[in-house]
Amino acid sequence: MYFTGFACTSCDATYGPKEDLLLCPKCSNLLEATYNLDAMKRELDRDALRRRSGGVWAWQDFLPIVDADAIVSLGEGGTPMLRCDRLARLVGVRELWVKSDAANPTGSLKDRSITVSATKAVEFGYHVLSCDSTGNKASSVAAYAARAGLASVVFCPEDTPVPKVMQSLFFGAKVIRVRGHYAQINAMYRRLIHSGRLKWYDCGTDNPYRYEGKKTYAYEIARDLSWQLPDRVIHPANGGMSIAKAWKGFRELHRLGWIDRLPKMSGVQAAACDPIVRSWLARDSTVAPIEKNPTVAGALAGADPGMLGARALDAIYNSGGAMVGVEDPEIFEAMKLLALEGLFIEPSGAVPIAGLRRLVAGGQVDPGERVVCVVTGSGFKDSDRIAEQVEIPIDVVEGYQAMLAAAEQVG
Ligand SMILES: [Zn+2]
Repeated sequence: MYFTGFACTSCDATYGPKEDLLLCPKCSNLLEATYNLDAMKRELDRDALRRRSGGVWAWQDFLPIVDADAIVSLGEGGTPMLRCDRLARLVGVRELWVKSDAANPTGSLKDRSITVSATKAVEFGYHVLSCDSTGNKASSVAAYAARAGLASVVFCPEDTPVPKVMQSLFFGAKVIRVRGHYAQINAMYRRLIHSGRLKWYDCGTDNPYRYEGKKTYAYEIARDLSWQLPDRVIHPANGGMSIAKAWKGFRELHRLGWIDRLPKMSGVQAAACDPIVRSWLARDSTVAPIEKNPTVAGALAGADPGMLGARALDAIYNSGGAMVGVEDPEIFEAMKLLALEGLFIEPSGAVPIAGLRRLVAGGQVDPGERVVCVVTGSGFKDSDRIAEQVEIPIDVVEGYQAMLAAAEQVG
């Protein structure tokens, strides 16, 4: 085990590897897991790891677990990394790869982190997993609770897409619908968790174990590109933790000497809910809450990313990346562009393609760049939005002759 515990991102407190922690007990800021990177450098071999099959848990040495018998897995991670030359030409960059986290077990990126928090819940002996969610995290928590034989409780905004609610319910979760938008529910949920009144394992915003799962983006991207890092990696940004943690993963690989350069970490938000974009444009180091407006990107409803947003900004500034906001029509166009490559992605998950187009048009991305866009959720997750984009044929043909006539009409 190389996991050595936690360091606070704000004060100088450190904690051991067996502690059940959320925020720093001393200053209530975010905690970050630490590892013995010197020992990892001596003992681990990148090419042996490259040959190891599996997704997230192929990187067990890089994850904060103590008991391997506790691992709760549905085969998450190891998602497709697809070179998309046609899309690259349409978007205007030299080389474009799409990493599709829609291929995760419950259809979204959340499985990558919830597998770790579910494992910690088993390690610590909890019986109930909980979270607040715009839908995808809820589905994932419900699935991993089921897999571990535990109960789950999830809090969702009332306008959560039906497929996401349905999925959570089908896995046996208690779904509590709450009035208000996500940032409001998140504030109340965190108050609930930190009240000490419930013996649930929080898989929500403040869990430092959960976020370590998101580092695996970096490992998979590096491995799948034979350790030749791209110029830029673009994620959708809600709270921004995927950006911050993928950046941590890349820096770990750099410290180990497995890669010789780091990518520019970039993020995309819906223009209707873009607090991190605003801070980035103002060159602020913190993120102030904003008023959220309606957007098709319902999973990107984090109007108050707080401490997480600051971590994302840190990654973006230090890597030389960018933040950009995109309008709903651009998001639909991005979904259609992904469909040209056979990818069925929900609006919130498709924003990196829309953001990349904007960054190219604005001259912030050089057309000679090699870019990886991470797309994060299946189109089935928000199918009503896609139903709006297509027209189901009204005519129904009957019998072979009619079928033949229709076929000949197609040509
Ligand atoms: Zn602290």
